[in-house]
Amino acid sequence: MLFSGIPRIKLLEEATPIQCLSNIGNIMDNNNIFVKRDDIMPIGMGGNKIRCLEFWLGDAIQRKCDILLVAGASVSNQCRLAAAAAAKIGMDCIILHSSDEPKKLNGNSLLNRLMGVKTIFLGEMDEASRKEYTLNYSENLRKKGFKPYIIGEDLVTGAFGYVSSALELVYQAERENIDLKHVVICGSEGPTETGLIYGLSLFGNAFKVHVISVEYEISYLEKRIQKIFKGMCNKLDLVPPRKIEDVAVLYNDYIGEGYGKTTKESLDAVKLLAQKEGIFIENTYNSKVFAGMFDLIKKGIIPRSEAVCCYITGGTPALFNQANLFD
Ligand SMILES: *Cc1c(COP(=O)(O)O)cnc(C)c1O
Repeated sequence: MLFSGIPRIKLLEEATPIQCLSNIGNIMDNNNIFVKRDDIMPIGMGGNKIRCLEFWLGDAIQRKCDILLVAGASVSNQCRLAAAAAAKIGMDCIILHSSDEPKKLNGNSLLNRLMGVKTIFLGEMDEASRKEYTLNYSENLRKKGFKPYIIGEDLVTGAFGYVSSALELVYQAERENIDLKHVVICGSEGPTETGLIYGLSLFGNAFKVHVISVEYEISYLEKRIQKIFKGMCNKLDLVPPRKIEDVAVLYNDYIGEGYGKTTKESLDAVKLLAQKEGIFIENTYNSKVFAGMFDLIKKGIIPRSEAVCCYITGGTPALFNQANLFD
């Protein structure tokens, strides 16, 4: 077994749904567009980090840690989902926010409040300072006799969640008679897309993974992916039969002016999914991924005759902080 010896806490009972986007398909003259609903999960309102957390929590428990630390902006999905998973398994959790306390509770910050999780606002700071603060905070807890675990620090462990998702997707598509050829996924910090690439590369030539970068230049994203991929090969003691570049294509073209900044196409994608399919996606990640997929289909890079599945990675509560975009 691929994951034997890798500790894991099961947070998902069953596979997340695959759906056909039939109405958008009609408009685009393409009945081969599917979505994998990783925004629908039975805990914390769902999202890709739940899959990563199965392995981060497994690691934390194996190391006999007794408190989780998670850092991010106040709109962070990872912070909300770590707190939800901590609640579910009955572990303490502290959130460190690299932002000021929001004037009004909304989206993820509201959900964090409802969970009663201890939350510390550090004010605006960059990623490097946040990391340093988190490490110091963890060290202080250690001195007080706690055993803290920092969620999100070990990207290789987090990536296992999407190897597992890749296997789930392949078997599910087969069961539902979808002759899947292309998978579209968000590219950001690396664990999600790398796990998916690793998992799908185990199937030889069967799949192409299209990674839509929403945060970094793809030359830098590629380096991150390579590093995580290598770490996975070592930890799982298995090198897939295909190289990253044979399986995955990374795209720079849909970031617009940068992380979190909308483009006309990303806003259009949010509205199109809501109006034609009754599906809500947020604006930082998924909107750009869908804008990218629609463009790749229009350009024929993803041919109309070949089935494509796009991951919806969640983050839906963040949409409530983005109301101003739709005034
Ligand atoms: C974190 C996040 C991503 C990106 O995942 P990475 O593993 O950092 O690439 C995509 N979508 C949503 C909703 C997220 O919260």
